[in-house]
Amino acid sequence: MRPRIVTRATRVLRSVRRTPELERVILATIENPESAPMDSLPEKANLFGARIVSPDLTRPPSFDVLHPHTREYRFDCAACGTVIQIDLDAILSEDGRVDSILGAENAAAIRAHFDLNMVGKSHDGGWPRFHVERCSSCRTAYLIYVGVKEPSNSRFLVTMQGITQLVTE
Ligand SMILES: [Zn+2]
Repeated sequence: MRPRIVTRATRVLRSVRRTPELERVILATIENPESAPMDSLPEKANLFGARIVSPDLTRPPSFDVLHPHTREYRFDCAACGTVIQIDLDAILSEDGRVDSILGAENAAAIRAHFDLNMVGKSHDGGWPRFHVERCSSCRTAYLIYVGVKEPSNSRFLVTMQGITQLVTE
């Protein structure tokens, strides 16, 4: 969390004319990230790291239960490069909810991070489901967000909508 805030502060220092007030805020942020004004930290800075996949309104489904070979989704660990494999069929049966996946206290931060709407639908028009996956090599954790649709009885489509590194859990 610290490097990210320091990077942000450095960028501000380079691009904006410094006033004593701005300097005070930047120094306070570097010294104590928790003290930063809320409008400069739209996300909980200690929860989310690198974004691997961002939500997309038009992304096609990644997994169709009628095509079982599509159930595996792969991405590279942002920390060590190891290929991480997710079983999208298993995520379907887990039924991970935004209110419980990282505890109720983090639900609002997850909604803000993935830009979830008030209706509660996923970006593909399905139902959002969540899962935490760890890198088998370095144990870095990732929050996975998928949309689940059921276009006909028991035919489920799973669309990958978000993968973000978790800095803490
Ligand atoms: Zn790793």
